[in-house]
This record gives sequence, C-alpha cells and structure tokens, in this order.
Amino acid sequence: MTYDLIIIGAGPAGITAGIYAARKNMSLLIITRDIGGQASLSSDVENYTGYQFVTGMELSEKFSEHLKKFNIEVKELEAVETIEKNGSIFDIKTDSGSYQARSVIITSGRIPRKLNVPGEEEFKNRGVTYCATCDGPLFAKKTIAVIGGGNSALDAVLQMIKIADKIHLITVESELRADPVMTQKVKNNPKVIIYTNTKLQEIYGEKAVKGIKILQNGQVSDLPVGGIFIEIGSLPVSDIIKDVAKNESGEIQVNCKCETNIPGLFAAGDVTSVPAKQIIVACGEGAKASISAFDYLSKTPD
Ligand SMILES: Cc1cc2nc3c(=O)[nH]c(=O)nc-3n(C[C@H](O)[C@H](O)[C@H](O)COP(=O)(O)OP(=O)(O)OC[C@H]3O[C@@H](n4cnc5c(N)ncnc54)[C@H](O)[C@@H]3O)c2cc1C
Repeated sequence: MTYDLIIIGAGPAGITAGIYAARKNMSLLIITRDIGGQASLSSDVENYTGYQFVTGMELSEKFSEHLKKFNIEVKELEAVETIEKNGSIFDIKTDSGSYQARSVIITSGRIPRKLNVPGEEEFKNRGVTYCATCDGPLFAKKTIAVIGGGNSALDAVLQMIKIADKIHLITVESELRADPVMTQKVKNNPKVIIYTNTKLQEIYGEKAVKGIKILQNGQVSDLPVGGIFIEIGSLPVSDIIKDVAKNESGEIQVNCKCETNIPGLFAAGDVTSVPAKQIIVACGEGAKASISAFDYLSKTPD
C-alpha cells in the first residue's frame, strides 16, 4: 500500500505531526526507534506552556497517550535506513522492511556527539554513558566525571548530585555556558569540582572504567572515576536521506512551512535548520509540517 504520509520519528515533533495528520484523516504510518525521543531524557521541564514543572518522562507519556487516542499505525523499534524519491513516490527502507508514501515528514531529531578519545568505544556501557536520566542510578555513591559545559552537561550534573558522591565537571572552554540558574546551582554544590580549560585525553579501566587522564595547563593528571557522562552536544540524524539540502551542521534545510527542497518531503524539530532546539518548538514545527503535507497532498494528483 502507498500511504498518504509517513512520519519518521516519534519525539515531540513526530507525535504532534501524527496527531495533526490523524485529525485530517490521512492514511498514515509512523516509523520510529522509540516514542518520546530526547524529551524523555530531560529531568526537569520548566518551559513547556501549561506545565510549571513536569519531568521529561511524564511529558512524553502525556504525548504518547494523546497519540494513542488516534488509531495510527506505528512501527516502533524500527529504524529508517534510507529515503529515496522515485517519480512521485517516496521509498523508505528500514532495518526490517520497506514502505511507500506520497509524502514524508522527517522528525528524526538528534543523537549525542562522541568525544572520539581512546577508551570511549571500549568502555561504552561499561562506565561510559551519554544519558544521565537513563543510566544515572547505576552510579550510586560513586565518583564520576561529566564532560561538557553546556545545558546538557549541567542537567546531568544536577541529576547526579542526588545520586553520586563526587562529580568532576570537565570542560575545554574557559567557563560554563549553561543557563545562569543551572550554573549557579552547580557552582554552589560542594559535591562538584569544576575544571575549565581542561581536555579529557583518555578513558582507562579493565572490565569497567577505572579513571580518566585529563590535560590542564599543559600537565596530564589522573582522576580515578567509576563513571563518565559525555555531554558535549548532539548531531542531527539526517544521514537517512542523501539528496536533500542541508546546512553546514548537517541539519535539513527547511523554510517556514517546514518544506525541504524536495516536493512532498517535509522536516520538523531538532533535525532541521530551525534554531531553537526545544520541545515546544519541535511540537509547533511538527504541527506546521503536517498541515503543509496535507496542503501538498490536496494539490497533487493521486
Ligand atoms: C538531556 C536533555 C534535556 C532537555 N531538556 C529540555 C527542556 O527542559 N526543555 C525543552 O524544551 N527541551 C529540552 N531538551 C530538548 C528537547 O528534548 C528536544 O528539542 C526535542 O525532544 C526535539 O524533538 P524532536 O521530535 O525534534 O526530536 P527527538 O526528541 O530527538 O525525537 C527524534 C525521534 O526520532 C526517532 N528516530 C531517530 N532516528 C530514527 C531512525 N533512523 N528511524 C526511525 N526513527 C528514528 C527517535 O527514536 C525519536 O523518537 C532537552 C534535551 C536533552 C537531550
């Protein structure tokens, strides 16, 4: 069967696009690795209108409940590998099937950036992690290191303050670049030691991580740690499509209607060139993308 619309991803952008598409009665499929996306990873969300405070997990559950109210076909735990347009139809290949649609919305979001230092790959899931929300409790009462100096890194530190005994916060920059409120909370906490202008050089261990080597003021020193949280930003998941226009950061270029340079292909949320990477923005862009896909289908012959 050829769907009217296939949405790739079910984070805030994909879920909202799905809700809008379902309400327009489009024949619709959502293909996604998970439901919730990065929004589930936030410990505290204080900037989603209508909620003064909500955890990312609670908000994602609300989104998911809303999506499930509609009878939408969802292929969960399935990863899109390629998207190609042949004539007027999009062919989408995943790790377990292939699907066709007359229009597509890409909302595949972002994934964590890697440091690419010795030991990072070897000790992944054996002390090296990219998600404090998911893995934090595994490091109870340990000394850990958090690498990075932006909002994600400080969010990880604030979560780990409640769990770990001691936290080394390491950034290559000369100062922390997170929101002032978070920065102040971290600076005021006696569990946290901050290292600026410092580079992580190596992660070492045996079966699991035992420590890291850092370079500060030209000197290499050794910090014994039981866990390392790498929080140095993220990359757009845009390599699933080759021919679309992207910016220098690899983000899919969209206009204010979420249109790409390929007719019938739309994108929304963190994977796009739209600057603010936030839940509320991703939801709004997802809604716009769906409305644009509907307009496109109305004007395009079957
Ligand atoms: C730790 C952390 C804390 C944050 N805190 C806040 C906050 O407090 N407030 C705020 O507004 N924002 C916050 N954000 C940012 C916010 O989470 C994102 O802006 C938002 O989730 C982006 O939504 P999205 O739908 O575009 O992408 P994502 O949430 O990244 O969702 C992408 C979706 O695509 C799926 N996917 C990816 N690749 C494929 C593939 N190949 N095939 C199929 N499916 C795929 C994923 O499984 C996922 O479902 C935070 C982010 C992080 C990481």
